[in-house]
Amino acid sequence: MSEELIPAIHLESISRSFPGNDQPALHKLSLKIEAGEFVAIIGPSGSGKSTLMNVLGLLDHPSSGKYWLFGQESTATAESSRNRIRAHSIGFIFQASHILGDDSVLSNAAMGLRTQSVSMNDRTQAALDAIDRLGLAHRVGATAKTLSGGERQRLAIARAVATGPQIILADEPTGNLDSVNSAKVVSHLRMLKSTGSTIVVITHDPQVAAAADRQIEILDGQIVYDSGGSARNSHSLVSPLQTEPLHDRSMRSLLRIAADDAGDAISSLAIRGLRSLLLVLAFAIGVGGLVASVALSETTSNQVSSAIKGAALDEVKVNLGDAEGQLFDQREQLDLGMDRISDLPHVRGVAFLGEISPTEAKITRLSPTETEPDRAISLATSSSSYFDVVGIDTTPLRASVLLDGGKSGSIAIVSKEAAEELGIDTSGVGGPPAGISLWINGQLVQVVGYFSPDDRTPELQVSVIVSPEVVAGIDQMRLSLVVRTEEGFPSTVSKAVPFAFSPASPGSVSVQTVADLQDLRVNVANDLGTFIAVLSIVLILLAAISAATAMYLTVQSRSSEIALRRAIGASRSLIFRLFLLEGLMVGSIGGLLGGAIGTLFTLVISASSGWTPVLPPTLTGIGLSVGAVTGVVSSIYPAWLASRKDPANAIRS
Ligand code: ADP
Ligand code: MG
Repeated sequence: MSEELIPAIHLESISRSFPGNDQPALHKLSLKIEAGEFVAIIGPSGSGKSTLMNVLGLLDHPSSGKYWLFGQESTATAESSRNRIRAHSIGFIFQASHILGDDSVLSNAAMGLRTQSVSMNDRTQAALDAIDRLGLAHRVGATAKTLSGGERQRLAIARAVATGPQIILADEPTGNLDSVNSAKVVSHLRMLKSTGSTIVVITHDPQVAAAADRQIEILDGQIVYDSGGSARNSHSLVSPLQTEPLHDRSMRSLLRIAADDAGDAISSLAIRGLRSLLLVLAFAIGVGGLVASVALSETTSNQVSSAIKGAALDEVKVNLGDAEGQLFDQREQLDLGMDRISDLPHVRGVAFLGEISPTEAKITRLSPTETEPDRAISLATSSSSYFDVVGIDTTPLRASVLLDGGKSGSIAIVSKEAAEELGIDTSGVGGPPAGISLWINGQLVQVVGYFSPDDRTPELQVSVIVSPEVVAGIDQMRLSLVVRTEEGFPSTVSKAVPFAFSPASPGSVSVQTVADLQDLRVNVANDLGTFIAVLSIVLILLAAISAATAMYLTVQSRSSEIALRRAIGASRSLIFRLFLLEGLMVGSIGGLLGGAIGTLFTLVISASSGWTPVLPPTLTGIGLSVGAVTGVVSSIYPAWLASRKDPANAIRS
């Protein structure tokens, strides 16, 4: 057999039975079609024409028999080779045009070339050529859904021929057209034949059948009439089938594939804009909650820990309860207790702090009767050692000494913020000039110094500390001791403090080390963090479920599009990739947006609570990756379903 005599199509005793159908759709059918022939297949509905075409187009497997396509036995060919043969050697035209209405005319025509991974420029050129040949050049930029029925079918032909296939398979291509448009389609088919293509057209239309060189009639899956082969077209050449992968795995072609995939996913998302937007929002809310939970637990934990971190290693607080001034009045007893504590091993210093209830303190600047500043100023008294013990400097440095000396009279050391509230200028380097004074509960009190509280003493941020005689008559006072220990000894010292201070009733003294606070801090941060985390995980799950549902519904509604893509040679893995990529994109965009929402949420909460927001630099990364992973995971199943769709079946619908 010389090479020229290899038929384009050679079927030998092909049968195809469907489960649940006693009659086979094709029954021991044998047929040869030479390269360059134009064949019409006719027959009543249900006679097996479409089944034959699906077998010819490698969309379906025969139950038995053999099929040589350009001399190559195709039934035994691997799925990936069949995809390649469809992409490169076969052009399909269906009764329904299966045009993607929301895409442009150009991108519809270029669809098959994309599967061939032709470069973008060549693709556009080939698609434009095909569009031109089909007389659609004037509509090239239009959205495909604006085309008329006849134009759509011509576009479907352009799509089929743009790839330069050796065989055109058309299943009732004029079934939906009027006679004028049918005639146009027929003339295009004839033109294709004249360029050497082998054409098999299934038709009910006598006009179309008459235009072919050879007519074959099918009944009950068997050939009942064959007008016989015509003279072979002298132009037709039998070129080898493209079954091997194009070994073009260069960086450039991989990039092109990635760009194609991304472009497809983006246009698919854009076409279903509202659905995509809602999905993005669902992911954004879930991820936003998660990001906020991370940022807020960092913020709260930072908030509490900055207040105690300085004190953590070397401080013990002793609560003496609401002493109602009694202990304070018995100053000797207080001093005695403090002396005994300072004699304990590992103790560096001890001081008392008496905080006056705000209702008992009226602090004004110029006269005892003027109204107090807007911001509440707290009033406290302490021993001079207090500033040393908590490690706060005063301006001037020795101002705190005056707190102890009875001879200095009524004096006050004022925090910078409190001074500002009271309208005192604190800019002088040497401290307050002589003569600056305050009115406290009707007494004139000399201001002798300023101080700036630090994280250890946040309660003194806006406060006035006065010598004990200023508050002598006040009952409502919360009295506490601060014990400064050597580093690492707070817990040892705290055990000894109650006995040292009050040997007779150590139980009346409650001691708090910073370790206790640390526990509290961890608990608070954990509780809040856990709550928001659980909530946002639930939200993310909901987002994933809605994404999976939406994607599943989309897959169902895109059945024929998927089938078409498969028919023109898209592999299962390409279809799988496209849907996965959509999930990835929706999830990633939602994740980024969620990162922004979570950050904003944290800023708002922090601002309204007076916290310093802590935004870990990884927040955006967390948002993006949680969104991306969830998006991908939720689309795995729908993507798998899409990739499993049977093209032969789906194309019928
Ligand atoms: P035609 O295209 O000539 O109208 P078909 O090839 O579509 O006919 O169908 C031939 C026969 O095979 C019909 O009886 C049809 O019901 C049956 N058939 C086709 N596809 C399937 C299928 N997927 N499952 C079961 N029966 C099928
Ligand atoms: Mg049919």
